Amino acid sequence: MSFDPASLSNFILILTAWGGAFLAALWLSLVIWTYRDIRIRARDPLARILATLVTAILFLPGIVIYLILRPSRTLEEEYQSTLEEEALLQSIEEASLCPGCGRKTREIWLVCPGCHIRLKKPCHQCNKLMELPWNICPFCGTPAPGVRRENLTLDEALRPVNPISDETSASPSP
Ligand SMILES: [Zn+2]
Ligand SMILES: [Zn+2]
Repeated sequence: MSFDPASLSNFILILTAWGGAFLAALWLSLVIWTYRDIRIRARDPLARILATLVTAILFLPGIVIYLILRPSRTLEEEYQSTLEEEALLQSIEEASLCPGCGRKTREIWLVCPGCHIRLKKPCHQCNKLMELPWNICPFCGTPAPGVRRENLTLDEALRPVNPISDETSASPSP
């Protein structure tokens, strides 16, 4: 078996071509992968372009940089965790405890069925439930009856209770 320099150079040529094709395919698939990955992680189009460019220009080191800097959660995961947080907050709000006996009460209860303590009061105008310390109804803007409001001028305090004239009538009385 004789050593043939021509076949060796052919072999190297084929190896180089194969390696080059492999690297090109790898580069292309990494760029495509980065683009797909950043698309489910970031809504910002500039971030998408930057991430894809980093991989396209820097190739393998670019992928490392992208993996370090990419948002840890996908948009879907972020949305799910927001939903979970909201559900958690809601369950905390719903499971409020009676200040009298400590048993669980519902948001819509007026009095505690266990100890008969007052939990809410109804608005005398729209009948929606208000927290006991509130002295104005957040739904219709009617001040609670018999509650002295702070920061009132004498003129305002003497005027009959009227929800509409609270903010709008700033004109001086004759
Ligand atoms: Zn109670
Ligand atoms: Zn009301």
